[in-house]
Amino acid sequence: MTKIRVLDPDTVNQIAAGEVVERPASVVKELIENAIDAGSTSILIEITSDMAAVTKIRVTDDGEGMTPEEAVLAFAPHATSKIRDIADLSTLRTLGFRGEALASIAAVAEVTLVTRPRGSGALAGTRLVIRGGEIVEKSEVGAPEGTTIIVEHLFYNTPARRKFLKSRNTELAHIYAAVENLALAHGEVAFRVVQNGKERLSTQRSRDLLATITGLYGADLARALVPVEGRLPILTIRGYVSRPSENRGNQSEIYISINGRSISSRQIAAAVREGYGTLLPKDRYPVAFLDLTIETDLVDVNVHPTKREVRLSREREITGAIATAVGEALAGHDLLGDAPAEPVQQPLLPQEPVPAPAPAAGEPEAAYTVRHRELALSDRQLRRTETEAGGQENLLPPMEPIGQVAATYIVAEGTDGTLYLVDQHAAHERILYDQVVEQRDKAAGSQELIMPVVLSLPPKESAALRDAVPLLAGEGFVVEEFGRDTFAVRAVPAALGAVEDPASIREMIAEFLAGEARAAPDRREAVTCIIACRGAVKAGALLTAEQQKCLLMQLARTKTPWTCPHGRPTVVAFDKRKLDGLFRRG
Ligand code: ADP
Ligand code: MG
Repeated sequence: MTKIRVLDPDTVNQIAAGEVVERPASVVKELIENAIDAGSTSILIEITSDMAAVTKIRVTDDGEGMTPEEAVLAFAPHATSKIRDIADLSTLRTLGFRGEALASIAAVAEVTLVTRPRGSGALAGTRLVIRGGEIVEKSEVGAPEGTTIIVEHLFYNTPARRKFLKSRNTELAHIYAAVENLALAHGEVAFRVVQNGKERLSTQRSRDLLATITGLYGADLARALVPVEGRLPILTIRGYVSRPSENRGNQSEIYISINGRSISSRQIAAAVREGYGTLLPKDRYPVAFLDLTIETDLVDVNVHPTKREVRLSREREITGAIATAVGEALAGHDLLGDAPAEPVQQPLLPQEPVPAPAPAAGEPEAAYTVRHRELALSDRQLRRTETEAGGQENLLPPMEPIGQVAATYIVAEGTDGTLYLVDQHAAHERILYDQVVEQRDKAAGSQELIMPVVLSLPPKESAALRDAVPLLAGEGFVVEEFGRDTFAVRAVPAALGAVEDPASIREMIAEFLAGEARAAPDRREAVTCIIACRGAVKAGALLTAEQQKCLLMQLARTKTPWTCPHGRPTVVAFDKRKLDGLFRRG
């Protein structure tokens, strides 16, 4: 007797067919789904890679395991323990149901399975080796309860598919993304990803979604989230959405799961965005984590073989409820500290230029010199972003700088008595970012360095840099390898202007490499952010009144002056009413 059966041909014909093994991340996803379906409480994912590719995937679970007969049957096409016939789909509670994943993986790789059923009293486990779909080895081994599956030589017999694989780092990024999605949808399971012996991500078992989010993305993001709840007879919504100041240029950070299945849905993402109304500029999207529980007979999972898409009955009702729940969560929450949502569109007031400061009375000469050098640097940085005031709208309300606090914030007064605090670094980052994006889109290209900057790197980093050369070239960095692990940076993005110092170039490239695996889909964006951040006036830099004015003017001409490229606010406002309130005036 085994729990696994081969589906009859009639049922097979009604199941969405197609390839599920596109890349290493698909293998990881399918193996984790099986481990979750087997009732695991902890799943270990070990990835081995060489310079070029992912070479080995190993997933270990503490789930129910398989008997020797089940282990063999699991690799047969259309063999599953999860449904008997198509009618079972309407009450499906498991992630799998096609009975195809193990068979498909085994057909294009070498698979080793070690498994022992939980609580069966069986002393020995089963070890199977399958190559190209054939069982080439079957033996008894000592094994813990649960299942370990090792996949090696993926696509060894299908070179065409192997050719479609991207760089190692891109494939790793897809793997991490797959694990993140599953971890978000399954807080009841602890996940750990180890790559070449190094832990890359991990979550603890927790019913609290926020704990999982914190484990994956850090406390800073978690702090920027607002809880969402909603309930209809057919639907329960729980999750978190970001405060408006934490926003993104696309929908890639709207994470949705339905009944434990991580899915992508443009309709649901749009509903989340709709909940923000005018709290966000038109082309910005929030970060969101939504866990939806929907009656299973309203969710058709049999749409696509990878099961990333679902078809919903009563979709309007569901998306409507989501938009409402998000709207209510934001309305009921104190969003203080957020940038105002709807900018007043008025031109900046003309202002008298203010002369640069002379040494203050009694100020020692050395201090003055330091201050002078600092101001000159700020001047260079600001000049980089100075453009002719051609036709651009001014999106900030009129304000006059009064001074600087902590050499970090510009204090300004609006014509209506509003007090503004402007984060000078965030503001200049926004300005630079817009400029770099514009230049990037115009393909304005590179600016050659007078002195190439030479980088000597440890082998691991140099491999990563070698991988990244074409991508860096797309951003305007001309990097050439001219010796063992030695590279020359010959040109930098023109948008940067003449970057003089090698240190900041080195830093830019280092940061780019560090962020590379994690943010592969947004790498271009990441580089732009790094450039903006490096080039921007620093917090702690003194600014003359004139420089402050110049910064505000440039900021007013950006398309979204309210946040920096990372979504942090650039400007906070205290209107007269709020000030009066703080002082308990009428
Ligand atoms: P599906 O998940 O759609 O049923 P798969 O090919 O992924 O199809 O797996 C086939 C069967 O093998 C599953 O139905 C399950 O019974 C068994 N199986 C696979 N992986 C595991 C595992 N990690 N632990 C226990 N049983 C497993
Ligand atoms: Mg499966």
